[in-house]
Amino acid sequence: PREDNEPLYAVLAKADRFYREALRSHPKRNAAVDYLRQRGISGEVAAQFGIGFAPPGWNNLLKHLDAPQDAIKAGLIIERDGKTYDRFRDRITFPIHDRRGRVVAFGARVVTDGEPKYLNSPESPIFQKGREIYGLYHALQAQRRIERLIVVEGYMDVIALTQAGIPGAVATLGTATTREQALLLLRSAPEVVLCFDGDSAGQGAAFRAAENLLPVLQGDRQVRVMILPQGSDPDDLIRQDGREAFENRLNNASPVIELYLSHLHSDCDLATVDGRTRMLERASGLLKRIPDGILRETLLGRLADLTHTDPQRIDNLCRSQPPKSS
Ligand code: ATP
Ligand code: MN
Ligand code: MN
Ligand code: MN
Repeated sequence: PREDNEPLYAVLAKADRFYREALRSHPKRNAAVDYLRQRGISGEVAAQFGIGFAPPGWNNLLKHLDAPQDAIKAGLIIERDGKTYDRFRDRITFPIHDRRGRVVAFGARVVTDGEPKYLNSPESPIFQKGREIYGLYHALQAQRRIERLIVVEGYMDVIALTQAGIPGAVATLGTATTREQALLLLRSAPEVVLCFDGDSAGQGAAFRAAENLLPVLQGDRQVRVMILPQGSDPDDLIRQDGREAFENRLNNASPVIELYLSHLHSDCDLATVDGRTRMLERASGLLKRIPDGILRETLLGRLADLTHTDPQRIDNLCRSQPPKSS
């Protein structure tokens, strides 16, 4: 029952206040404040996103709580070998809000260097990574109607774009975009631009996002993909080139189907029967999930051109194969 989770929301709200207050007044906050400033984050934007500071030490938050049980369930306090201690220590904290604005988890970054760079709350009864989208609550607060969502990888990318005056930045939480997130994104705005890091991980993430977006993409929606220069992420790029250049890139982003096709044939030699077969086999998994309509026709047509195969044959092929059991 829903009310069973009330204590979890309450302890997360309490932790949120504690971390935000620590960024304002804790005696050891200086390095964190300097770091944020050095990355170009204003106090206003930091406050907008509720950025905070988990002070160094094992029990700052623990001492602040009356009883640790709910905080353990919420992932804020770790219990191991009969000992309890704070999960987040000496880190900058980013609260993750659900669509109703309640804090359900945190991401936390080391202040300068250290491993792991980011630490996130574990999943809990009120936090499932594949269901939340970082920044969506803020985007909804800032604009009554969101024209365009820009999907990036990291907290700092969302914050840097907002800081630069580009609205609608959101992040999937370090995971591949799930079907559920895809639906939520497309329900929230008529246009979605994927803007993942310009490295192989980012390109892989864009491809997997495409695989979940294409089956739920309807005619009145648009999904495009912006390719970033090798080695840079949206935060790097906006600071290097400025807002106008970034917006130009956004406006020139290519339709997601193009990215999907080029990734699909990137390591298939279409000059050979083998390569063409492999490409069609790969595509059939997605084709099975795309309902009849213009998008499906388009994809079939493009695959037919690329492989010199009759589109009807491709269609029959993927309809006759049973879905892979995995
Ligand atoms: P920064 O700019 O602060 O150095 P980033 O956001 O560019 O960080 P990436 O390494 O590109 O960091 O990672 C993208 C996102 O993936 C992060 O913002 C974080 O959400 C997630 N992430 C990265 N490393 C980890 C990790 N070790 N554990 C959990 N999540 C991570
Ligand atoms: Mn990256
Ligand atoms: Mn990055
Ligand atoms: Mn970065």
